[in-house]
Amino acid sequence: MPSARPARLACVTAAAALAVAGLGVPSSSAAGTAVTAPSAGVGLAQAPWAESEGYPRQHVLDEPPADSSDASLRLGLTAYDQIAPLLNDLQRRSQRVSAEVIGQTVTGRELYLVTLTAPESAAESRQQDQMRERILHQPDQAAKDRDLARNYKTPIFINNNIHGNEWEGTDAALRLIEDYATSNDPAVVQTLQQSRIYVVVSMNPDGRHGNTRANASGFDLNRDFITATQPEVVAVRDALVDTQPLVMLDLHGYVNGTLIEPTTPPHGENYEYDLFIKHAYPNGLGMEQAVLDLGFTVEDDGVNPPQIPFRDWAEGWDDWPPIFTPQYAAFHGAVAHTIEVPLRVNNSSYNRPEEELQRRAAINTDIAHAAMESSISYLQEHRGELLADQIEIFRRGVTGADPLEVTDELFPEIGPEDVYLTEYPRAYVIPVGDGQRSAPAAARLVDHLIANGVEVRTTRVPVTLDGQTHPAGSYLVDLHQGKRGLANTILGAGTDISDRVDAMYDISGWSLGLLWGADVATIPQDGRMPRAGSAIEAAAPTGQVTGTGDLLLHLDDPNDLAALNHFARSDVVPEWLDDGTVLIPEEAADQARATAESFGVTLTPAPDGASGTPVGHEFVVAAAAPSTEVWALQEMGFEVREVNATVLNDGFDYSQVDALYVSTSAVSWSSLEDPARNDMTSFLRNGGGFVGRGLHGTDLNAELDLLDVTLERGRSDGNGVVAVDNAETAISAGATPHSFVYSPAWFTELGEDVTVDQHYAGDDVLVSGHWAGTAEEGGQDAAAGQPLIVSGADYDGAAVLFGSEPLFRAHPKGQFALVGRALFWSSLQD
Ligand SMILES: [Zn+2]
Repeated sequence: MPSARPARLACVTAAAALAVAGLGVPSSSAAGTAVTAPSAGVGLAQAPWAESEGYPRQHVLDEPPADSSDASLRLGLTAYDQIAPLLNDLQRRSQRVSAEVIGQTVTGRELYLVTLTAPESAAESRQQDQMRERILHQPDQAAKDRDLARNYKTPIFINNNIHGNEWEGTDAALRLIEDYATSNDPAVVQTLQQSRIYVVVSMNPDGRHGNTRANASGFDLNRDFITATQPEVVAVRDALVDTQPLVMLDLHGYVNGTLIEPTTPPHGENYEYDLFIKHAYPNGLGMEQAVLDLGFTVEDDGVNPPQIPFRDWAEGWDDWPPIFTPQYAAFHGAVAHTIEVPLRVNNSSYNRPEEELQRRAAINTDIAHAAMESSISYLQEHRGELLADQIEIFRRGVTGADPLEVTDELFPEIGPEDVYLTEYPRAYVIPVGDGQRSAPAAARLVDHLIANGVEVRTTRVPVTLDGQTHPAGSYLVDLHQGKRGLANTILGAGTDISDRVDAMYDISGWSLGLLWGADVATIPQDGRMPRAGSAIEAAAPTGQVTGTGDLLLHLDDPNDLAALNHFARSDVVPEWLDDGTVLIPEEAADQARATAESFGVTLTPAPDGASGTPVGHEFVVAAAAPSTEVWALQEMGFEVREVNATVLNDGFDYSQVDALYVSTSAVSWSSLEDPARNDMTSFLRNGGGFVGRGLHGTDLNAELDLLDVTLERGRSDGNGVVAVDNAETAISAGATPHSFVYSPAWFTELGEDVTVDQHYAGDDVLVSGHWAGTAEEGGQDAAAGQPLIVSGADYDGAAVLFGSEPLFRAHPKGQFALVGRALFWSSLQD
């Protein structure tokens, strides 16, 4: 469960309201198939972090039934169902162990957070909470407070098994917990008195059990930290916000020799990197030594010596995007490390003989454990300095101090290639207004900021920026706050770093400010700050009907689509208008008002005499798409049937389907047998819609003889936020001027009947990200002004093609609606 604080509760309530309305939350997570039959209700933790509790917080964990199919067992490791009994036993035996349930997985397994610390009274715990708040909000004062320096229990956070088939962090953590529960070693006793050790035992128990990297929804959780679509990520994010660790470890596998962060450049530009690397490097060296001290060798054990990419590599394993757990944790003041243990036991290696697997897993466990022990020692030895440096991170934020350039004077191993600095604006404004179409997007973004621990206030007076006046009551994110780095990472446009590095590990661009559909204005560094109230706990509810008679719904936001899908399921018959808006007939006024409120959307008076095509039933999409895109379609309230070649060749019933969405090779023309090809062709000829994305969508489009276009592809490693121009068509009119691309593509050689709905901006294509190469090499310049979304309809059917990634990892929420509109549009053409 999330925090019991009012702020979190407010968010939970809003989410619950959406779940009740049956929308906004994909059905898979709303319903949740319980795998672990809950046993008789023993007082389970319902409210971790409750302010009145001291330590230990001994919650008897539900013990799931034994399950011999758990993939961990073949490795000689701990199955998910064995964890709760172990923790319950340790809680019985030791006053140092507190186990809490911080959330549930997609399928309902529980996420355990164990806190190791010496007992504290409720009053002592309250004091710790107050000190933690002071460190963040009054860092100047905290820096001078000797009592705080002496008595604050320095927190370390150890996250394990985020990738389900990278198992051993969990087993090392259980060993650590058992040691600390019972040890009489004076060093351990002292650590427990001076520190708190927080351990997420397994962040991905579904993947642990099922031998998968991803969670049960098919998401890579270690790419989801800035978007936070998944319940596992939400739980760990909330725990990081609440615990504010000084040091953080995230245990992975498998790289031989053991890979130990800090990373290569580029380094995230919103970190106080001088304060990060100052500890990350020596702690990395300490972990390296601890691993070497175990004595494993290449000759006897097949174990290579550790590598520290910051020291040993030039490029390719960077800490640029905030999507990884440690990179995310750094914004909460942690010196954070990814650790990759060495000996591969997953994927094809999982089929090796059991004895060999268990040998490897045992070594990996020892190495993970050594990294944990070494980091705890570092924390203990440097606790004063680590604490002072975390306070300094937040002090720079609160006072608006410039970030410090890390020089070789400060730190001899640093080079100019490591220096990434940002110039912070003074503040961001997220406007609100009467009848505002982007209201649900603004509320979503504000609630997201608050959930991430960013302070948001509301203005008491109108704010005029770049000639535009935003009303009083608009949201204000003052960057003079402890979490300014995270606020700027979420709201800022980001930077085009194509010229600075050659190789990136994952995505290089994101910007919730540009991609989530809300308007975000900037107050420059020397700009005047408006008067504002105190920090708010949640965005104000949205949802408005601004007139009477027939009403109009614009489709700009995922919630707008969810509202439309809700209407279509009910007995209201919305009408699709030619311009891509939707009319809600006057007689449905009561339902219209209720739906506007539960989805937070705006309904305005429809133009006189408007009428269109009725949408009289639930809209069903057959999708051959990655799980992340299916998730995004479900966020828009679509009923999705996942299909692949086997499903279609088995004789798929298209009679309930409205549109086909294809973005992977799971359905290709060559994989379909003749009857399946005929079924698909007649589905499209008889009014079924077609939306394709990227190479696979476009290839199938060509075989189906739909749109006459050619797909051009740019550099396959290019990705980021791009500037786009939208045409005034049903698919893209009024859309936001930014999209996301990965392996960017565009359309050329357009036939006469093809309409361009969106194209890349004519120059300055990439706003932020990494997209290298010249025009001849498929660089950004090759894409300038080129079509990115195209559509058309003829005898063979109606189709829309995307060269962009509007649903990428369910992130660019401001572009989701274009896919939603495309699905409706293509199925409603005659
Ligand atoms: Zn991993």
